[in-house]
Amino acid sequence: MKKFIMKAVSLALVGAMGFAFAGCSGKSQSSESSDASAAEEQFTVEKGKLVMATNAAFPPYEFYEGDKIVGIDAEIADAIAKKLGLELEIQDIEFDSIVTGVQAKKYDIGCAGMTVTEDRKQSVNFTSTYATGIQAIIVKDGSAITDFEGLKAGTYHVGVQQGTTGDIYISDELGDDRVERFNKGADAVLALSNGQVDAVIIDNEPAKSFVAANTGLKILETPYAVEDYAMCVNKDNEVLLNKINGALDELKKDGTLDAIVAKYIPAN
Ligand code: GLN
Repeated sequence: MKKFIMKAVSLALVGAMGFAFAGCSGKSQSSESSDASAAEEQFTVEKGKLVMATNAAFPPYEFYEGDKIVGIDAEIADAIAKKLGLELEIQDIEFDSIVTGVQAKKYDIGCAGMTVTEDRKQSVNFTSTYATGIQAIIVKDGSAITDFEGLKAGTYHVGVQQGTTGDIYISDELGDDRVERFNKGADAVLALSNGQVDAVIIDNEPAKSFVAANTGLKILETPYAVEDYAMCVNKDNEVLLNKINGALDELKKDGTLDAIVAKYIPAN
């Protein structure tokens, strides 16, 4: 019995040593210096590309013009990609899947009028901010809801885009039972037009676009704080984060960023 145990122990030891050696030989196959230069060259999911995840139903930041995704985010990301010598590829996915997708290294960046929040910062890093937004309330013309207090006090139901800050805030304020979640802001607005919900909470610029595109709706601004928009990047990818921040800084300084915003949000 004792012999058997000894044999088992020594077999286990040999096994462990085998693993240790395998580990060593694995590492010695590529030298430290070539690892470092490879990391410097390839700092995106796919070499030569900047893959951006967005939800292209958020005008004027991202929306379809024919089959092309355009908008403020698309153009800023394209200008950044050019500065980094990369080709921009845009993937249109659900807003709620962007942070997890970037975290899983499926996409290099999330760029979707995304508000910087403490909660999201647990999962991803944010670049410096490039725009601001505030949450707005959309109601039907002639609605009895005239402000946020009135909305809260009643038994009204509110439509939101799933997983957005509007969803998070209003669910906190009103409780889940009074919130209807949609995959797209436009679907929430359609539900408002159809009388399925009494109001929609969404960022002010898309709110303006939706109200302009649908008759019989108007905007009430909420007392919520101004939010900062930024792109999110995988927490392991400091190289890309720094490169994007550098490019953003240049685009802010040379007026490109302002020009892109002015193209989509004409000053009144
Ligand atoms: N700014 C909001 C957020 O980050 C909404 C963004 C969006 O719907 N694309 O949650």
